[in-house]
Amino acid sequence: MNIKVIAFDADDTLWVNEPYFRQTEEQFCNLLASYAAQHELERELLKIEIDNLVLYGYGIKGFILSMIEAAMKITQKTLSIEVIQHIMELGKQMLNQPIELLDGVEEVLEALKGKYRLVVATKGDLLDQERKLKKSGLNHYFHHIEIMSEKDDANYLKLIKHLDIQPGELMMIGNSLKSDVMPVLNIGGHAVHVPYHITWAHEQIEHSVDNERFKSVERIKEILDFL
Ligand SMILES: [Mg+2]
Repeated sequence: MNIKVIAFDADDTLWVNEPYFRQTEEQFCNLLASYAAQHELERELLKIEIDNLVLYGYGIKGFILSMIEAAMKITQKTLSIEVIQHIMELGKQMLNQPIELLDGVEEVLEALKGKYRLVVATKGDLLDQERKLKKSGLNHYFHHIEIMSEKDDANYLKLIKHLDIQPGELMMIGNSLKSDVMPVLNIGGHAVHVPYHITWAHEQIEHSVDNERFKSVERIKEILDFL
């Protein structure tokens, strides 16, 4: 391996993210419990979220709009202003969440900072991700922050070009096989999967990954065993 740059996913790799979405989803379901069962509400919301990705991108703001849209649909447009207000407040609470770093993250960054160029490669809302990075106190470890609208082959190629490295000189670390691993392997990079206990349905893939440039570890600290 001739790794020059290590790129870290942010949400559920550096800090807690998905549990906040799940909590809010649960509150959303409680709010509309008199209209439909939880699984039905969840299914409707997920469908609308995925349909809206192309318009709103990833992140909390799009999630708020999707919750309102799902609520309108489920209540057959009889939704009260109070419920809309409540949904918007749920979203604002998410945006104001403190940052909870995942175990071992600082230790890993500290150990790697002099040996490799460290970057963040994340998707989501630009303002929100910048806010989280600032709040995390991790900013100073990173040479570059890439906020991508979609983590696909083309955007990883753009990142590599920007960093002026070869694909084989990149190693991506992240919790999503779909976004952090597969596209990076596709373009010839190295990828390490660090699973998180909760994964959004849209990020899940059904097949297993078999590639010599791929590794899976239980905890982020284990990457120090080979880096
Ligand atoms: Mg992630």
